[in-house]
Amino acid sequence: MSKILLVTGGSRGIGAATCYAAARDGWRVVVHYRSAADAAEAVAAGIRAGGGEAEAIGGDVASEPDVKAIFAHCKRRHGRLDGLVNNAGILPQIGRLADFDLARWNRTFAVNATGTFLCCREAVRMMSPQYGGQGGAIVNLSSMAAVLGAPNEFIDYGASKGAVESLTTGLARELGPDGIRVNAVRPGLISTDIHKSSGDAARVERLAGGVPLGRPGTPEETAAAIVWLLSEAASYVTGSVIAVSGGR
Ligand code: NAP
Repeated sequence: MSKILLVTGGSRGIGAATCYAAARDGWRVVVHYRSAADAAEAVAAGIRAGGGEAEAIGGDVASEPDVKAIFAHCKRRHGRLDGLVNNAGILPQIGRLADFDLARWNRTFAVNATGTFLCCREAVRMMSPQYGGQGGAIVNLSSMAAVLGAPNEFIDYGASKGAVESLTTGLARELGPDGIRVNAVRPGLISTDIHKSSGDAARVERLAGGVPLGRPGTPEETAAAIVWLLSEAASYVTGSVIAVSGGR
């Protein structure tokens, strides 16, 4: 039987590339989305067309009832969960901290940090032997902004990803005895639609010259690290953060 993987925000970008790569690696994939049902259904259909197994499910990761419903679906449909990729995330508009209102700060943290917490909690309740599970692997999406701080752009986003990294460290140590590995990937500038929401659609091209490898990364290059962390090849890796940033 295939192992079951839930990828949040799997409808496009890094999440969609992760769904495809994981399916090629033998995972049965639950493709999650917030609003883009058609795009997520297309990813699932693409996986099935390639001989894999996948279905789509919607919900807002910042909503506790929605997150509970997503995991209830996994339990009902598959009876187990072996992998979770906390990929869903939002990027706010470019700005300076003095101009941020509280609603912006709270929404960024609600999706990026609280959403990751809620999904981790529900995953542990399915994966841990303490709840009848069989262990598993979790990969959280951080960002180079967690270490660079994102000054003059989105300090709130960087801080939310810093929270994701601290959560990853603590949870990896907490869950080692339960046979659940928890790691993070820290992408740099990756060519996806997320940059449009910064208000500067050309942001990736504008900053690419400052990347030591001289170009932005692709969703597929990021997905390769995520799928490796999920795999048995990474069986002794937990609490790690892998930068996929071209050296930025
Ligand atoms: P993207 O193309 O904008 O895709 C974001 C995905 O997250 C979409 O599937 C979206 O679903 C989903 N999503 C957004 N808000 C959600 C919510 N409240 N609840 C549930 N799902 C939600 O983003 P990406 O560039 O692939 O980024 C993926 C992850 O990598 C994010 O965590 C991001 O912070 C991180 N990252 C990206 C970069 C980069 O350069 N691209 C760099 C560093 C880190 P819908 O489309 O259905 O709304």
